[in-house]
Formats: sequence, structure tokens, C-alpha cells
Amino acid sequence: THFGFETVAEALKEQKVRGVFSSVASSYDTMNDLMSMGIHRLWKDHFVRNLNPGRNPLTSAPYEQKGWNILDIAGGTGDIAFRMLDHASTINHDAHTKVTVADINPDMLAEGRKRALETPYARSPRLQFIEANAEKLDMIPDSSIDLYTVAFGIRNFTHKEEAIREAYRVLKPGGVFAVLEFSKVNNGLFDAVYKRWSFSAIPLIGQLVAGDRDSYQYLVESIERFPSQTEFRDMIKDAGFLVPGQGWEDLTGGIAAIHKGVKP
Ligand code: SAM
Repeated sequence: THFGFETVAEALKEQKVRGVFSSVASSYDTMNDLMSMGIHRLWKDHFVRNLNPGRNPLTSAPYEQKGWNILDIAGGTGDIAFRMLDHASTINHDAHTKVTVADINPDMLAEGRKRALETPYARSPRLQFIEANAEKLDMIPDSSIDLYTVAFGIRNFTHKEEAIREAYRVLKPGGVFAVLEFSKVNNGLFDAVYKRWSFSAIPLIGQLVAGDRDSYQYLVESIERFPSQTEFRDMIKDAGFLVPGQGWEDLTGGIAAIHKGVKP
């Protein structure tokens, strides 16, 4: 605003998000498993299987020439990246697809690098980690990416529209923008149960397991504030993407959803 309030608020939000993820980095897996009762793993598996990285887009045959250039934004711990590389290698027999994991938080990246040591990709040119803000990807050239993914990251961004615009810029024509994020539960009764669970149990689990109630309180609130499926689909459309079908797929009754857009 004129008085700079907005900038101060935004800086505070960025700082807060940074603090939250620095504090949850080491307990991140345990907490995700506890909070989602392990379901986040199934959602991530489905997300990756459905995107089918490494598939030859024209023939559905194994893509052997140069693979896909994938950018996994807010991918700190490498969860999506490792699945992408495993899928490309084992399902599509593609040894060329590569993933760049970008995250704003060095602690999450450190956790990802550590976990990469237990995969076949630790020293491979197919996997790299970079520190970057999704809203300003200056180091990524225009029209250079085949698939841009962001899993459980975009709701934390201060300027979501800017991040979507950056996604559009870096994707090649025909490239896919794919988002896995918490969303809105579409059944009233289920929603009531889910809200009870998330607002009471999740901060409590955070306190008991990670000794950090506030960060988990923030996570629950950020889920509540995130746009609905249709609002988010419209944000993707407004950035210029073509949106296939209704634009999203609900997972577990809308607790999470996958949104997709294709750059024309
Ligand atoms: N994608 C991983 C997964 O699904 O397990 C990590 C998700 S974690 C809930 C959210 C991540 O978003 C954190 O690692 C955080 O540092 C990152 N993040 C938040 N704001 C960001 C931004 N503006 N640019 C890039 N990463 C950001």
C-alpha cells in the first residue's frame, strides 16, 4: 500500500513460512504420516503415476531420446522428485529425465539432499537442488521445462499469481503445470469431521511429536485459507493455461486435489 503496510505484512509472512519449515524440516516425514494417517504417500504416488514422467508424449512408447526436464517447486525433501525419477526409470525405461528441486528454505533442501543419499540419484546429473523463490525463477530460462510440479507448496506462497505466471514463463509450449494441494472437502458431514480433526488434533500432534504447536497451527490455517477448487482452477486459466476437463481431480473427498494446466 501507500504506507508500505502490505510490504511489511508480506515480508512477515515470508519470514513466518521460512521459520515454520526450518522448524519442521527434520520431523517432516513423521508429521506428514501422522497428520494424514499415511495418505499423503498415496496421493503423491497417484500424482506422479498420473503425470507419467518419461513417457514419450507423442507415441506413449518409452521416451528414449532426452527425457523430460522437470522442475519440482517447493520440493524441499525430494518426495516428488525421487518418485518422478523412479517412475521414469522403472515404468518408462527412461534414463534421461531429470528433475530440478527448487525450494526457498535451505533446511528443507538439506533434508532433501540427505535423503537423496539413500537413492540411486545422489550423484547423478538427473537430480539437482537449488534454493529459489517460486515467485522469481530468474535462473530458469523461458520455455525450458516440460513439467512443472508443486506439491503442498503453493498455499504457502505470498504471491500465488506471480508464481503461476513464472510457471507459465518457464514451461515449453505443450508443457504441463501440475499442482497437488490441500483443497475443500465436498461433503458437509465429512467436512465437519475433517475440520474437527485438523483444528484440534493436528496442532496437538505437532506439540507432542515435534514440540511445535504454532507451526502446525499455521499449517492448518493455511489450508483453510487456500482457494476452493474452482477458484484455483480460474487462477490457472487467468494465467493463460489451457485447463483440461473441469480442471482438477479431488483426492479423498477433496481433502486434497490435483490441478493441471497446459501451456498453449
Ligand atoms: N513438496 C514437498 C512435499 O510434498 O513433501 C514439500 C512440501 S512443504 C509442505 C512446503 C515447502 O514449500 C517447504 O519446503 C517450503 O520451504 C516451500 N516454500 C514455501 N514458500 C516457497 C516459495 N515462495 N518458493 C519456493 N518454495 C517455497
